[in-house]
Amino acid sequence: MSTSDLYQAVILDHNRSPRNFHPMEGADRRVEGYNPLCGDRLTLWLKLDGGRVADASFEGQGCAVSRAAASLMTAAVKGRTTAEAEALADRFTALVTGRLPDGAAEREPLGKLAVFEGVAKFPLRVKCATLSWHALRAGLRGEGVVTTD
Ligand code: ZN
Repeated sequence: MSTSDLYQAVILDHNRSPRNFHPMEGADRRVEGYNPLCGDRLTLWLKLDGGRVADASFEGQGCAVSRAAASLMTAAVKGRTTAEAEALADRFTALVTGRLPDGAAEREPLGKLAVFEGVAKFPLRVKCATLSWHALRAGLRGEGVVTTD
């Protein structure tokens, strides 16, 4: 399977059946995210426990890229330390903006998220892909609202 076929397959799968797509009872953080460029909106919930992201979930309305990215993001950060989650946010942002150095070693920590590399060729889609990660960063810092700019 080519990288772009794999990208399409992952986006389709996670758009059709997004993981962790539900409100959360007893969350420690709730962030409203908005991407005015595309109209994507999401609410992200985080449960934090001793410096770890114990649980993450989201709901919202947006394009397939934003939904799939949020689905994969929640799955990827669950169980990680907040520092690891921030580092993953930085690495993912570097990937989709074409700033990640070449090489498998840079991509390996991203797991399935690495399929988003192709987004770098579509500047209008970058904010769709990063919206949930902006929301994650805001949530980890205790902020409740984030808008991509
Ligand atoms: Zn979008």
